[in-house]
Amino acid sequence: MSYDDHNIFAKILRGEIPSQTVKETEHTLAFKDIAPQAPHHVLVIPKGAYVTADDFAANASEAEIVDFWRTFGDIVAELGVAADGYRIISNAGRDGLQEVPHYHLHILAGRSMGPMLL
Ligand code: 5GP
Repeated sequence: MSYDDHNIFAKILRGEIPSQTVKETEHTLAFKDIAPQAPHHVLVIPKGAYVTADDFAANASEAEIVDFWRTFGDIVAELGVAADGYRIISNAGRDGLQEVPHYHLHILAGRSMGPMLL
């Protein structure tokens, strides 16, 4: 699966378009979704060029994978939503209705989620 570096998240990573950073680490960036579907809607992305969750799982280094998931955990802790709960979603490919072809995790929190979202 080939990575298209013209996608919007690649542009955010290069600083070509603005975003509201929630957290940044060596390998990971988290920022607010431009069209939030919940009171808290954060996108977590690796800085590396991965298209989907399976691409990331297969091809990222252990350091990138650990950094990604620790950053996710830190954000949940900092948002203070662990007790009430949250939803994480990662859309992949055509059937997953993935809009932006750079791997990302949606963190949604702050309200009760419906049976399907995104
Ligand atoms: P997907 O359907 O690929 O899982 O979700 C892509 C997400 O990226 C959507 O929730 C959409 O609102 C968000 N998004 C699209 N363009 C931008 C942008 O320019 N900035 C930010 N912060 N989020 C964006």
